[in-house]
Amino acid sequence: MTLFKNKIFKKSYYSVSRIKKPIVIILMVIFTGITFSSYSTNQYLPTDTVKTSKGNLEIQVIGHCFFHFRFNKINIYVDPLSNLADISQMPKADIILITHNHRDHLNINAITTLSKPDTKIFISKSCISKINLGQVLKNNTQVTIDDIYIKAVPAYNTVHLRPDNIPFHPKGAGNGYFMVFGDKTVYISGDTEYIDEMRFFMKPDVVFMTVMMPFTMDEDMCIKSIKKLTPKILYLLSYNIDKESLKAGILEALPKVSLRVPY
Ligand code: ZN
Repeated sequence: MTLFKNKIFKKSYYSVSRIKKPIVIILMVIFTGITFSSYSTNQYLPTDTVKTSKGNLEIQVIGHCFFHFRFNKINIYVDPLSNLADISQMPKADIILITHNHRDHLNINAITTLSKPDTKIFISKSCISKINLGQVLKNNTQVTIDDIYIKAVPAYNTVHLRPDNIPFHPKGAGNGYFMVFGDKTVYISGDTEYIDEMRFFMKPDVVFMTVMMPFTMDEDMCIKSIKKLTPKILYLLSYNIDKESLKAGILEALPKVSLRVPY
């Protein structure tokens, strides 16, 4: 029985392939400096519709780490950015999740544009100094909203450091998110390397994994992670890495995974 219905990605919202190491330094600037394809409600094209015991979960990757989930009538956005689509045309958010304070993840304009008076906004600890909105979810804390369980999980570097020896993503500062929709589970890695805590993530059905050297995990860490997580659907969000090699490694490690590489 097939639980997951896949629709082909109709649009490529983002393409930063073959970026070489010297250019990585300016990626953070690029993320907030490019205007992308416009979006309108009639362009709503969920890339997956996952049947759960409590209704369908529709998934759409807008670009970078900006995701849209629609579960029954509830709209959830993760790390919305204002320059990847015409977000004024998108449905207002019931829930917004922010993984961390880097500007390719935390965009106050996008949050306010997508918000309505009763939108619930959850931010990580590292966002506190940058935004005066939302509720902080520290690592390993959880909320349940409209039958959707959301847990903030750790996301941090263990190996890759900035030139001043501070991790790009210090432990405790940022979040990944683990969510439960009926009998299906979703894990969003956030910006992290492979971390031991992944053994507690209970084999989620859908995983969003960010692979971006040198800021997050490398190919080996990604494969180690997915062996641990064994998702049925894996969204691979990768930059500055040999994408074909990584895809081959993933499919060798997990031949049955439905692999999505949206850009
Ligand atoms: Zn980051």
